[in-house]
Amino acid sequence: MARIVMKFGGTSMAGTERIRRVAQIVKAQTDRGDEVAVVVSAMAGDTDRLVNFCREANALYDPAEYDVVVAAGEQITSGLLAMTLQALGAQARSWMGWQMPVQTGSAHSKAKIDDITTDQLLESMGAGQIAVIPGFQGLSDKNRITTLGRGGSDTSAVAVAAAVKADRCDIYTDVDGVYTTDPRIVARARKLKAVTFEEMLELASVGAKVLQTRSVGLAMKENVRIQVLSSFTDEDAPAADTIPGTMIVGDEEIEGSDVERQLITGIAHDKNEAKVTLTRVPDQPGAVAHIFEPLSDASINVDMIIQNVGRDKGETDVTFTVPAADLARATDILENMREKIGFNRVISDTRVTKISVVGVGMKSHAGVASTMFSALADRKINIQAITTSEIKVSVLIDEDETELAVRVLHTAYGLDAE
Ligand code: ASP
Ligand code: MG
Repeated sequence: MARIVMKFGGTSMAGTERIRRVAQIVKAQTDRGDEVAVVVSAMAGDTDRLVNFCREANALYDPAEYDVVVAAGEQITSGLLAMTLQALGAQARSWMGWQMPVQTGSAHSKAKIDDITTDQLLESMGAGQIAVIPGFQGLSDKNRITTLGRGGSDTSAVAVAAAVKADRCDIYTDVDGVYTTDPRIVARARKLKAVTFEEMLELASVGAKVLQTRSVGLAMKENVRIQVLSSFTDEDAPAADTIPGTMIVGDEEIEGSDVERQLITGIAHDKNEAKVTLTRVPDQPGAVAHIFEPLSDASINVDMIIQNVGRDKGETDVTFTVPAADLARATDILENMREKIGFNRVISDTRVTKISVVGVGMKSHAGVASTMFSALADRKINIQAITTSEIKVSVLIDEDETELAVRVLHTAYGLDAE
């Protein structure tokens, strides 16, 4: 017997027919003798609809009331799934965030989970009742409903899995696993058997949008083993216990188990970056601090940074990237600081993409970056900025060359499927 947390996303819960399929998958898991808690999202599109109602009601809405409204989508799907399970002859009941409770702070619309009370939940699961838990919602220390931020049901599922010490947290979605790269760009992208938490964090934050990034950080901290797999399968599909999807686990579990493991695990791309260049910045101590302090004060995340070699007259150019959504704010802040920083011009460009190659294998191997640079050079793709971490090399290129670059790198690192 195992204890499994199963999570179903919005496309899996979208309508009666989909929920029936979910109920069959859940029932099959309990029929094998496992204790099961299910965490569900709202039906796809419903949370957006509820957010719009809030905006229409009051442009300056109270975040506490916003949470009351948007948490409702998950209340509906959890009740519907419990009923559908009962219709299949299974024992099931729903547990709202406030009933367990899922205790959170009071930062409405972006609350963090502090603690989940599990005594009653475990008792009921132990008695053979399937627990159906709405994702995304919690209860603040001031006794009000909170939500965890968009996409937060993944985090709910991982937190429940940690709290009940589950053997595995199966996250069912509309893709059947994590791929070496976006299969819409590279037809020969392969589904990965296993990815480490660290790799998934990099892949999630650089644009492979399978899981909410926060949920992966929590899984790493609590050592919750996750499987990503599809709910869009028919009745004779392989059972989740045979691990048809992608496992996200600690390094220890991967080392040695997967002999065919490649040096590079995956390639991600992110088009939501913008490049900013300040020309003729004084080449002297403190200049760079004057640029980045006000950006950080405004909570603008700077990612890649390059300072060019000094020109004559003690001046230099500084280039960096910010999220495209923050570009207008960033340039405005910099323009206002022109005197203090002492630069000539701000030049910005949103037509850029960040391409990242990720793999724990590069901790122990040299040459990963140079393979990347030569592969891109062979195709005459110009690199505008570079950053590296222990398990990642990222380059900034022209947006028009995104698809070509991803394909070329996928081949260069030997990731193409046979
Ligand atoms: N329904 C919420 C959202 O769309 C939470 C989730 O589905 O993860 O953001
Ligand atoms: Mg999601």
